[in-house]
Amino acid sequence: MSEIIRTKALILQAIRWQDSSKIVSFYTEEEGLVKLIVRGALRNKSPLAGKLESLSEVSVLYYKKDTRSLQILKELDMIDPHHVLRTDYRRYPFVLAMLELIRATLEEGHGDVVFYRFLMQMISGTEQSAHPENMLIFFMLKLTSYLGFKVDFTDCFGQKHPQCLQEINTFSLNEGRRVCTDCYRLGGYLERFDKSELIYLQNLQKSHYRRIGLSEYHHREWKPIIGKLLRYINLQLETEISLHSLEMML
Ligand SMILES: [Zn+2]
Repeated sequence: MSEIIRTKALILQAIRWQDSSKIVSFYTEEEGLVKLIVRGALRNKSPLAGKLESLSEVSVLYYKKDTRSLQILKELDMIDPHHVLRTDYRRYPFVLAMLELIRATLEEGHGDVVFYRFLMQMISGTEQSAHPENMLIFFMLKLTSYLGFKVDFTDCFGQKHPQCLQEINTFSLNEGRRVCTDCYRLGGYLERFDKSELIYLQNLQKSHYRRIGLSEYHHREWKPIIGKLLRYINLQLETEISLHSLEMML
């Protein structure tokens, strides 16, 4: 039994496979993460030459057979190659980091139209943002919610009032919440966030995604913030994701 799937998709990564083919990872609107074999993609006269770059939004058609893990691409049409963003060296790494996170954290075969559209909004927002790092940090916060471990920066999770509310800058990677010295003994992995970081993150969390790109607040020291959120994601998922696309900047 096979099912015809036609869906919008974002190209996450394409790797060479056998002599003239590629295996392409897509984040699709209908089916979530999908890997497709693209036969003959590397042949000189392939109509797909140049169309398999990361970040291109395309429409794909393939037959889905549950008996095999790799499906074969039948058709691909370009929707938006995101040319401008791809040559924008200040912004491009941040969207690539989003794609890396998608690839590393989501499971195959779980489509989510709302999250797909959110990702597309994040990409077009980054294209226009004066602070592209805001977009990635916002995306990371939303991703943690989506994956079921939303971060809460409001108060200590130990909740031993009133001491709990005195100190604010230690954060438990296990709980995804702040923790005061009194509650330290609950153990686990801790991170420090200074006050300006906490205010920044709380503001971002409260913002509407359409306004992030235009938002005026930002944090000059955004690199450590991304590092801390990444450690949080890695601890929660027991992964070792590193954002290669940001290595030049971090
Ligand atoms: Zn406490």
